[in-house]
Amino acid sequence: MTLRVYNTLTRKKEEFVPIEPGKVKMYVCGPTVYNYIHIGNGRPVIFFDVVRRYLESQKYEVTYITNFTDVDDKMIRKAEELAVTVPELAETFIQAFLDDVKTLGVHDATLNPRVTENIQEIIDFIAALVEKDFAYEARGDVYYRTSKFAEYGKLSNQNLEELQYGIRIEVDDRKESPQDFVLWKAAKPGEIYWDSPWGQGRPGWHIECSAMVRKYLGETIDIHGGGQDLTFPHHECEIAQTEAVTGHPMANYWLHNAFLNIDNEKMSKSLGNGILIRDLVKQIKPQVFRFFMLSAHYRNPLNFSDESLKQASNALERIQNAYDNLKHRLTTASATSEIEPALTDRLAAIANQFDDKMNDDFNTPDAITAVFDLVAEANLYLQQERVNAAALQLFLDQLQAFDQTLGILSQQTDELLDEEIEQLIIERTESRKSKNWARADEIRDLLTEKGIFLEDTPQGIRWRRK
Ligand code: AMP
Ligand code: ZN
Repeated sequence: MTLRVYNTLTRKKEEFVPIEPGKVKMYVCGPTVYNYIHIGNGRPVIFFDVVRRYLESQKYEVTYITNFTDVDDKMIRKAEELAVTVPELAETFIQAFLDDVKTLGVHDATLNPRVTENIQEIIDFIAALVEKDFAYEARGDVYYRTSKFAEYGKLSNQNLEELQYGIRIEVDDRKESPQDFVLWKAAKPGEIYWDSPWGQGRPGWHIECSAMVRKYLGETIDIHGGGQDLTFPHHECEIAQTEAVTGHPMANYWLHNAFLNIDNEKMSKSLGNGILIRDLVKQIKPQVFRFFMLSAHYRNPLNFSDESLKQASNALERIQNAYDNLKHRLTTASATSEIEPALTDRLAAIANQFDDKMNDDFNTPDAITAVFDLVAEANLYLQQERVNAAALQLFLDQLQAFDQTLGILSQQTDELLDEEIEQLIIERTESRKSKNWARADEIRDLLTEKGIFLEDTPQGIRWRRK
């Protein structure tokens, strides 16, 4: 089955066909770096990481770009509040973001460009819009002339008239029309600024992504992503800017994740119910949070609560236990013989089921069902007294392959569990009874290597850890 993705632009699931075979160019709008990220911000971060990992598992070469908005009104206000410069503020929260997403097992982006490193490209982009009459200057500001872009509203499925109703009438006589949006803002005294053909100022928010996408990925990219709140105005404005200049679609597929709520309420500053990622991971394993995020389809709202986290934790434990048990049994499994073809077939069917679900618009909850099918097969297999190292390896490889996409397993130390030690001692006693000295010695060596000492006592064999 080929990959199909839901495209916000066309409002349907479409077959995914990359511009260049075997390659995917992907851009996800990143954070404004004036604060630590909260659990809601974790949703796009984790979801698009999984999209990227899955595409890579399908042998695509993915270029994944996500930006940092390191100058804007919020940054300026926060820097003032903290009595630091805007670049100092940005540095602090860029590092914090990178640390947080690493904790969440998110792979590094190919590149994390920043607005302040791309001012010239942004100015050039705005100049091209002015040149084409899609933008106009008004007392040091530059605005986008929405009425000139006939397709304005196509992403969020609204037309200009409808938009007019929605917009609060701003007292801003610089704009020709209330829907017009700012591309360049004149600096107020004391604010950070750059020189431009329109005087000293800084970029508006939307223009940075148009400039960076074009610079780092080209005129048309495969996937553009972000949270659903970015559809309008941010992505609508990106389209208007880019397509006015290039005459080509900005992105072929627009993907948006739904929101994460807390206890069925919107997370908001006024409710004071936001939770930072860095605080959450002091309470729970980051893998549990990842698993929880992937337990719902990305286009459905997801509710964060103690109960839903507990469920995620229990479910993940079942997968982790199977994984650990497979690894431990492998350290002691003796003979390697042929794997039963029926087992190979069952595992291949489960792998296909996983891909089918991921291919259906990244249906992670259903893909996780395939992971549980594998866990059930593994547990059944592990109940056998004699296990085959090759079969254990096959289960492990498959589980690891799923995890390449999901990133939910912990790599624990390969310490032996108590019950495994006891199992090995029984096996050693039996080996000695049956005069299988080689196996008995092998087990003794293995236990010594793991720091387990055996003592013969009148009550039988006792063991202790070093
Ligand atoms: P912000 O820093 O709020 O501009 O958001 C950065 C990214 O996180 C954007 O892609 C937002 O759409 C996304 N986002 C913010 N809050 C939530 C939430 N509660 N649930 C899901 N995504 C969110
Ligand atoms: Zn953007």
